[in-house]
Formats: sequence, C-alpha cells, structure tokens
Amino acid sequence: MDKIIKLTDLNYIYSPGTPFEWQALKNINIEIEKGEFLGIIGHTGSGKSTLISHLNGILKPTSGKILIDGEDIWNLKDKKNIRFKVGLVFQYPEYQLFEETIYKDIAFGPYNMGLSKEEVHERVLYSLKFVGLDESILEKSPFEISGGQKRRVAIAGVIAMKPQILILDEPTAGLDPRGRDEILMNIKEYHKAEGRTVILVSHSMEDIAKTVNKVLVMNKSEVFMFDTVAKIFERASELYDVGLAIPQITRIFLDLKNKGYDVDTSIFNIEDALKEIERAKKAVANNA
Ligand code: ADP
Ligand code: MG
Repeated sequence: MDKIIKLTDLNYIYSPGTPFEWQALKNINIEIEKGEFLGIIGHTGSGKSTLISHLNGILKPTSGKILIDGEDIWNLKDKKNIRFKVGLVFQYPEYQLFEETIYKDIAFGPYNMGLSKEEVHERVLYSLKFVGLDESILEKSPFEISGGQKRRVAIAGVIAMKPQILILDEPTAGLDPRGRDEILMNIKEYHKAEGRTVILVSHSMEDIAKTVNKVLVMNKSEVFMFDTVAKIFERASELYDVGLAIPQITRIFLDLKNKGYDVDTSIFNIEDALKEIERAKKAVANNA
C-alpha cells in the first residue's frame, strides 16, 4: 500500500535554550497509508497538536523528516501547495471565521487556490453536503448562526479545498453529545465517500472507537501505541496504566471474558456488541 505520510526520527522542541524549553515530540517514526482513517489520542499536553502542525508545515521539526506522498515537505519549491494538499482544521476553528457571509468563508480557501468562480461555487456546494448544512445558510453572516453550525462551516472551508489529507484537531470539543455524534458521522461519511486520508485528533476513546480504523496513542511526547482499534483495545491494561480509559462497551466484554464467558473482546460499538451477544448466546444454546 502507498504510504501518504512518513515521519522519520521527528523531534520538536519549543523555545529551545530558554526557561520554557519543552520537547513536545520525541523520536516519532510512523507511516500512514493512503486512504487510512487515523485517530490520534492522548492526554492534553501529550503532543497531538504539535504533531499534526508538522504535517502541513506550520511547525518545522527540530530534527527529522516529514515525507508527504514521498516528498520531503521542507525541500519543496512551492511550500504553499502543502497547505492545499494537507487541510488542517484547528481546534475551535469557528474563531477563525471572518468574512461577511458563510459563502465567502467557505470559498476563501478554494479562491486562494486560484480556482475560477464556477469551480469555487461547485466546491462550496460540495463541501456543504459533508457537514450537513443547507444551502439556505450561505448568505447568512457567520455571526448569526449557532456554535455547532459555525464549527461545520469552518470544517466545510477546509473540505472545499479537497485536500488529499484532512486533519481535524478535536473537532467535537465543547459540543453537546448530539452535536458530537453528528459531526463524527459527517466526517465518517466524508471518509467513506471520498476515500481520502483522514486524521482525527481526540481525547475521547469513545469518539475514536466510533469512527477510525487505526489509532496512534501519544503519551508524554512519544508514540505509545500505533495499531488497529482492535489491537489497541486488546492492550487495555497498558492504556489504564497511563490513565487512558477504553470505551465502556469494550470494558464490559473484557469483564465477561475474565468471568469465563467465551466472547470476542474487540468490541467497541453497540452494533457489534449486540451481534456478539447474540452469537455467544447461540453458541451456549448449541452446546447445552
Ligand atoms: P496536545 O495537543 O496533545 O494537548 P500540544 O501539542 O498542544 O499537546 O502540547 C504539547 C506540549 O507542548 C504541552 O506540554 C504544551 O504545554 C507544550 N507547548 C505547546 N505549545 C507551546 C509553545 N508555543 N511554547 C512552549 N510550549 C508549548
Ligand atoms: Mg491539542
């Protein structure tokens, strides 16, 4: 499979040589496949935002290499292209809306890419459908809509650039449970429909379990685990040790297993849980 991102011996130190010196990334070595839906999880301060800020060249590594599509991004002639190729939705992106209308806000990125008016228009409509907003919102001011809607507009603005890699830094932070689930489902649908690489940063295991295929666990500036969701949750006790909780539903299945029931423990959503319980019940009935 094609590796779209390759990080080699990546280190990053904030404010070196000052009393505020802090090594936020230590020897990061990972490869991410094209089309993958990756979740990045870890405590506040573990280095998640620092890591993703390296992927589109906002931060320059203290040492190490970042290859995107096989190219070292710090050797590119035109650095601007990397910002279009790797779309980054910052945490609380709604604070960055600034145009008079929502249309203009979403169109800002595509215009900067040098697209024609018609192409930009197409991009605006295209991105709207992935964030669950209606066209009727386009002529409104970003200041007359709700917080959740603003968040969607900001995400649409990045999707409208059709980045090869879409990165979202805690896109559900501060939203109510329903708003969170809606945004996660929107992002999941986007990934499914477009097959592009998506990276979702979160500090919620529940959110990660619901959406991604692969997980990078960051702990104290280092890669703690990097594997499929099932494999990560198999190492629940190690996650506990660093204070990261696995989803409740997974914990139930681990408890059942420990009590001697023959169940699959790589369960992290309700649908799979129901199926597994049905299967286990039938197995017991057949043996009786
Ligand atoms: P996360 O996104 O996982 O919460 P961050 O990548 O934002 O973590 O931060 C990692 C560490 O780097 C934290 O300890 C934070 O205090 C520190 N840090 C972040 N930004 C700066 C900065 N501009 N100057 C100094 N230290 C910083
Ligand atoms: Mg962060």
